[in-house]
Amino acid sequence: AVTISQLNKYYGIYHALRDVSLTVQQGEKVVICGPSGSGKSTLIRCINRLEEHHSGTIDVLGHVLDDNMSRIQEVRREVGMVFQNFNLFPHMTILENCVLSPMLVRGTARKEAEEQAMHFLTRVRIPEQANKFPGELSGGQQQRVAIARALCMRPKVMLFDEPTSALDPEMISEVLDVMVSLAQEGMTMICVTHEMGFARQVADKVVFMDQGAIVESGAPTEFFNNPQNERTRAFLSQIL
Ligand code: ATP
Ligand code: MG
Repeated sequence: AVTISQLNKYYGIYHALRDVSLTVQQGEKVVICGPSGSGKSTLIRCINRLEEHHSGTIDVLGHVLDDNMSRIQEVRREVGMVFQNFNLFPHMTILENCVLSPMLVRGTARKEAEEQAMHFLTRVRIPEQANKFPGELSGGQQQRVAIARALCMRPKVMLFDEPTSALDPEMISEVLDVMVSLAQEGMTMICVTHEMGFARQVADKVVFMDQGAIVESGAPTEFFNNPQNERTRAFLSQIL
């Protein structure tokens, strides 16, 4: 479903991604981890062209990403993203946050968009917050809204960039629970996270990045129980 091949990306002269190759099949869940500055966000942002790459290819659901804007729009329509800092529109209610893209991008009628929004807000267990503003919600609630908002676009792939790392500890599990249930329903997911319990529970593959490259990847049991690379071992010993 998502095929990344020999990807290179520079910020000026800084080489941020080095020959990164990664394939994620439909329904697969991939967890990406690695130290700060290793290129995790850069990689995931390249998948919906929030960053552009300089060489290599990215094929998302049959669309090969380049400067072609209509293809980029096509990909963004199919790929949902959840960020560390929620990125909700602060001046709009939760419901308005959820109906905006379906109405503008997909042309969904308001009534249908609202019904769909309530469906997904119910799924993330906060339908009662629909008419509040983001600032009136806890961090965990805001992040669940962000997930519901992304789901309202009926994405085929979901990208998560450290969705729980800005949350107070007691709110992490309510967001992870939603992500686990999404995984169990078969969503294709690429998640940057250091929540290794989540990785063990749902990941098909765990990828470790360092200095812009994929250093090691494998099924969670092998990856955690028997990491091959010295840098992977050092990283895991710090976070586990
Ligand atoms: P973290 O765990 O801190 O989120 P990360 O693995 O997500 O780190 P990236 O944000 O992808 O890392 O950054 C990779 C490298 O590229 C870092 O050295 C960072 O300083 C650099 N970088 C990221 N964005 C930019 C930018 N817009 N301009 C210049 N350099 C950047
Ligand atoms: Mg990052």
